[in-house]
Amino acid sequence: MPATTKKAKTKLSKLQWRNRNKVLGNFKLGIKASSNARKYYIKLASHYAQLSNIRQDTIHKMTTDLSRKVYCIRIEDLNVSGMIANHKLANAVSNNCFYEVRRQLVYKQVHYGSKVEIVDRWFPSSKKCSLCGHIQSMKLSDRVFCCHKCNHTLDRDENASINLENAPDKLVRSARP
Ligand SMILES: [Zn+2]
Repeated sequence: MPATTKKAKTKLSKLQWRNRNKVLGNFKLGIKASSNARKYYIKLASHYAQLSNIRQDTIHKMTTDLSRKVYCIRIEDLNVSGMIANHKLANAVSNNCFYEVRRQLVYKQVHYGSKVEIVDRWFPSSKKCSLCGHIQSMKLSDRVFCCHKCNHTLDRDENASINLENAPDKLVRSARP
């Protein structure tokens, strides 16, 4: 999470905590929101807008930078809706805004002449040893890949990205805007 997002998130939770006892109103119960509560709602909305702006800005910078520097970008076809249904993954995935990153990379192809390729979601990029090809199970919390067969050890994401680079052609398709 970028530092600016973290700061904005902290500010937001502080605002919510300070206003925890406000009479926020409930339409069903016929309770009207107090005027202070209404002011709080407006403030809250602007905090959410700010957070989404920071996020959007960060993603744009990142995807532009990538599209400029790299000719061929391979990404995994993650099953994001499935991951969001999984509680533990939900926050990580929505924070990283996977779909938005992918969408931007795909449409920026035209501007920057880059090429985006999608690797099939069933390709075991994280579970495969990038050196000997051995496949083993990996927990999400395992940040380092340590091959049980050849002892090859490296960062989980690095291992996965080497595998993506070497993925068989039949599992790779190009992403069209
Ligand atoms: Zn190995």
